[in-house]
Amino acid sequence: MKKTILTGLRPTGNLHLGHLFGAGQNYVKLQDDYEFYLEIADVQALTDNFNNPEKVRKNVKEITIDLLSIGLDPQKVNFFIQSKIPEIAELTVYYSNLVTVARLQRNPTVKTEIAQKKELFGNDGESITYGFLGYPVSQAADITAFNGELVPVGDDQLPLIEQCREIVRKFNSIYGQTLKEPQAFLSETKRVKGLDGNEKMGKSLGNAIFLNDSEDIIKEKVMGAITDPNKIKKDDPANPDICMVYYYHNLVNSKESVNTICKECKQGARGCVQCKKELIEAMNNFLKPIREKRKYYESHPEEVKEILDNGTKKAKQKAEEQMKKVKSAMKIDY
Ligand code: ATP
Ligand code: MG
Repeated sequence: MKKTILTGLRPTGNLHLGHLFGAGQNYVKLQDDYEFYLEIADVQALTDNFNNPEKVRKNVKEITIDLLSIGLDPQKVNFFIQSKIPEIAELTVYYSNLVTVARLQRNPTVKTEIAQKKELFGNDGESITYGFLGYPVSQAADITAFNGELVPVGDDQLPLIEQCREIVRKFNSIYGQTLKEPQAFLSETKRVKGLDGNEKMGKSLGNAIFLNDSEDIIKEKVMGAITDPNKIKKDDPANPDICMVYYYHNLVNSKESVNTICKECKQGARGCVQCKKELIEAMNNFLKPIREKRKYYESHPEEVKEILDNGTKKAKQKAEEQMKKVKSAMKIDY
């Protein structure tokens, strides 16, 4: 029997290079060998976008198209919408007894995100909502509703997987062996940096290169990317390790070109403008097949809807089976 993968994306914007290199390439690699559930996490997206439901709704379709465009096969991957699986919300309620508020407040990912969302949650997180603080519990429900064994994610998600494992252990110790402890599956890149040099490229951080960016936008973003601030003149030698242009060459350009760029940069034999122009070209070449697939799905919205409907149906069946086991273990199977 195939092992199960569960992973998710929040419909808060389009896919960016961080998603692709941090987790998405692994989705594509793993899709042949696993029973794969891919959650469009609209309920989780609402935790910090509750005042913007239109944004979440629009991005459900957008992100599904993005995921299809990077090469996920809907015959192999069950795409589903989180809010259409009420079992997840039900499990969240039961699991919330198994985790302390203090533990959630200490979760490093939750802490970082609260600090990034001052407008919503206040300068010191004093306006944090119950829902946002509890989203790791809901994420544990996402994973275990499908008996997810492997969770391909970027490394910002590791504290959330750990939190899920703790909940699973606690559940099993009280109610008997029922749930599987999931493992995170990281990519080589683990975490992709933003255009501004921030450690994480993020949809809500304003520093992302999106897979559906037009050629004009790619040009604008690359031309504005951070380079070695000590390089003033075109033929000054520079340090590629602190240059975002070099960083993205590594992601989308050939190894051979990257080696040449590195050598020339260190020797002062290449200007930043030339280097940026080459990156624009490499980036557009890289994005070309993705843009073509996107175009196809944009003009076949009925196909996208069917993919979501079919995947959601399969996910619902799986979650119903799991819910029965949980209720029986908890002695609430009246
Ligand atoms: P938001 O800002 O709304 O939280 P996000 O850009 O963080 O959006 P998510 O939908 O929260 O994206 O994350 C989906 C998946 O993509 C997760 O597995 C996450 O680890 C991964 N991911 C997102 N950004 C990066 C990144 N910069 N590097 C590596 N992985 C990433
Ligand atoms: Mg996120």
